[in-house]
Amino acid sequence: MRSTERTLRSAAQLATSGLIPADRVAELEKVAERYAVALTPAVAGLINPGNANDPIARQFLPDVAELVTGQEERVDPIGDDTHSPVEGIVHRYPDRVLLKLVHVCAVYCRFCFRRETVGPGQKHALTPEALGRALAYIRQHREIWEVILTGGDPLVLSPRRLEAVVKQLAAIDHVKVLRLHTRVPVVDPRRMTPALVRAITAFGKAAYVVLHVNHPRELTREARAACARLADAGIPLLSQSVLLKGVNDDAQTLGDLMRSLVECRIKPYYLHHGDLAPGTAHLRTSIEHGQGLMRALRGDFSGLCQPTYVLDIPGGQGKSPVGPNYLQAVGRASYLVEDYRGGRHDYPPAADS
Ligand code: SF4
Repeated sequence: MRSTERTLRSAAQLATSGLIPADRVAELEKVAERYAVALTPAVAGLINPGNANDPIARQFLPDVAELVTGQEERVDPIGDDTHSPVEGIVHRYPDRVLLKLVHVCAVYCRFCFRRETVGPGQKHALTPEALGRALAYIRQHREIWEVILTGGDPLVLSPRRLEAVVKQLAAIDHVKVLRLHTRVPVVDPRRMTPALVRAITAFGKAAYVVLHVNHPRELTREARAACARLADAGIPLLSQSVLLKGVNDDAQTLGDLMRSLVECRIKPYYLHHGDLAPGTAHLRTSIEHGQGLMRALRGDFSGLCQPTYVLDIPGGQGKSPVGPNYLQAVGRASYLVEDYRGGRHDYPPAADS
């Protein structure tokens, strides 16, 4: 494991830090020119350069396979643009909106579903005027019950700027819940200062933090301490993970990840099937494989360790659960229900059916 003092942002810096061989700099620089690279010291320190299949490296080190875009892959795989009424807002479902405050992240994941719109080449954050228009949209739409801060990673903002936005959202009467999607407590745990934690507490409204984490090794002692600071402040924590080939696509690793999360007081929320982002085919599994993993989790791991396996329908039609089905109708007479070992059992229909 290597330790670095600053975020690594180029192939040359990765080679200097011993994370890639020097003779691969030229080819990987081409990838870095196309899709942003950033590894914080915490992430770089987790990679074992001696292991060609290191699951942390697969998530963060550029790969020439990214330069191949499959026919099925899309620039905007989950259709954000289709549902964006004003800059910074995605209004896909009736009762909630995404508010994209920033276009940068602490790290850049090689499978990112917004890789065409996040990165240092993009505009850093909403201008004050654009933020004003986004907040006005939320105020005008009384059906909006929940605001999800995502982007970009909202926790790269300074505590002062984040608190200012959270306060304005909390002041909107019909907004009852704020949700922040972030990777920061894991990839840059020192950033989770008491001031940043205070900025999230939603001033009378419920605030949830949804942590993006994909492998149990990401939950280091420092990351666990950062999550504990949030939990101790009364902020409920949920997780979202992406199912990734060579990272977490075996039942033991996935189960260990879910257990580690629960031990950190983080309830596993979503397991995302990999989105059709450009140049990410080498990291996607089949849906059948994902369903098999979900079956294995149900058998061997606590109910607390069960996320919902979901797929974002390309084009912006929203998420659908795509996990295995355990119930099958048998004519009109009864059902067959499957137990966690694969055994099948009759279950009667309701008396009035
Ligand atoms: S943290 Fe999320 S938005 Fe940022 S690069 Fe990773 S997947 Fe993309």
